[in-house]
Amino acid sequence: MTESQPDLECRDLTKDFDAFRAVDHVSFDVPQGSFFSILGPSGCGKTTLLRMIAGFQSPTSGDLRIKGKSMIGVPPNKRPVSMVFQHLALFPTMNIGDNVGFGLRQRGVGKAEIKTRVEQVLERVGLPHVSERRVDQLSGGQKQRVAIARCMVLEPDVLLLDEPLGALDLKLREHMKIELKSLQHAFNTTFVYITHDQSEALVMSDNIAVMNKGWFEQIGSPHEIYHHPDTAFVAGFVGDANKIDAKVTEVNGAMLTLATETGSEMKVEAAGTGLSVGQPAQVFLRPEAIALGASDAAAESTANISHGTVETVFFNGANSTVTVKDGAGHLVKVAMPQTGDFATLRKGDAISTRWLPKQARCYAVSGDV
Ligand code: ATP
Repeated sequence: MTESQPDLECRDLTKDFDAFRAVDHVSFDVPQGSFFSILGPSGCGKTTLLRMIAGFQSPTSGDLRIKGKSMIGVPPNKRPVSMVFQHLALFPTMNIGDNVGFGLRQRGVGKAEIKTRVEQVLERVGLPHVSERRVDQLSGGQKQRVAIARCMVLEPDVLLLDEPLGALDLKLREHMKIELKSLQHAFNTTFVYITHDQSEALVMSDNIAVMNKGWFEQIGSPHEIYHHPDTAFVAGFVGDANKIDAKVTEVNGAMLTLATETGSEMKVEAAGTGLSVGQPAQVFLRPEAIALGASDAAAESTANISHGTVETVFFNGANSTVTVKDGAGHLVKVAMPQTGDFATLRKGDAISTRWLPKQARCYAVSGDV
C-alpha cells in the first residue's frame, strides 16, 4: 500500500434491480481522513450505493476497494467499515456504555479492555462519564455522538453515515453539522455521508458527489460544485438559482448572446458549452450574483441590465430576497443586500437589476432538468 492510496475506491459500480438500474457505473476515490458526501434527490440511488459499500447489497458489476483490498464477496461484518443510521439504532434497554461496547463484545474483546476503550471513545466525543446513563436520558445531539462513538470504538477505516441528521430539528441540525465535521477531523477517519440536504454537504465535505438517477453528475469541492457546476442538474440542485430558458443568437469566443422568448437579451461568458447559434439553452443565475439599483428610465439599456418593479419582498433576516418583475413579465429572485440600502423596498417600487456575464452559467438543454 502506498501513502497516497485512497481509503475507498469505487470503479464502475452498478446495481440493477431486475430491469431497473439504481446505480449506474459510479466511480470515485475517497482519500484517507477526508469527508466525502453523496448528495442527491430522493430515489437517486444514494442508499443503494452506501449499502454496497457496507456489504448489505452486492453490486451487479464493478469493483469496490478499501485500503486497496477488493470487498466484492466480503460479508458486512468482515469489512473495515461501520455505519451510522438515520434512526441511530441505539439499544434502548442497554445503558450507554453497553451500547458503545456492543461491537467489541461481539468481537470477543475482554471486559476490562472494553471498559477502557468505551471510556476513551466517549471522552473523545465529548461525553465522559455517561456510561451508566440510559439512552432516554440523553439529548438528541448527545445520542448522535453516542452513535458515532459506538462506530468509532471499532476503529473502522471508513465510517458510513446514512442521513444521520435527518430526524433532528433545524437548530440542532445546524449545530450537529459543525460538530460532525470537527469529530471527523479529530478522529482523522474517512467519512462517507449521504444526504439530500445541500447545506449539510456544502458545510461538512472536503468533496461532494452530486448524484442523479443512479449516476454521478459531478465530483468536486463544495466551492467547485457551487460556483462551477458541470451540468444544469448540478446548477439547479445545489444552491438557489434563477433558471432562464433562452436561445443562442450569437457566439463570440466564450461570450454568448442569448434571447428569451419575449426578446430579452442576455450576455453570458461561458467557455466550452458547445452551444451554437440557434440552439436552446438554460441560463442559471444565483440570486446573490444580481445587483439591485435605483431604476432610471433614461438609463442605458445594455445587456444584463433590466428595469422593472418589485413584485415581492421575502424578509428572512440575512437570507431575505426580493422578486423583481421586468418589463417582459419575467420574475427574477435577487438576494437582498445586507447593507440596509434597500430595507424600505415595497411591492411596486421601480428598481433595476444588473449582473455580469461571467456570473451566470449556461448549458445546452437536456431532457433531465
Ligand atoms: P432516499 O433519499 O429517498 O432514501 P435514495 O437516493 O437513497 O433515496 P435508493 O434507496 O438507493 O435511493 O433507491 C434508488 C432506486 O432504487 C429507487 O427507485 C428505489 O425504488 C429502487 N430500489 C431500491 N432498493 C430496491 C430493491 N430492493 N428492489 C427494487 N428496487 C429498489
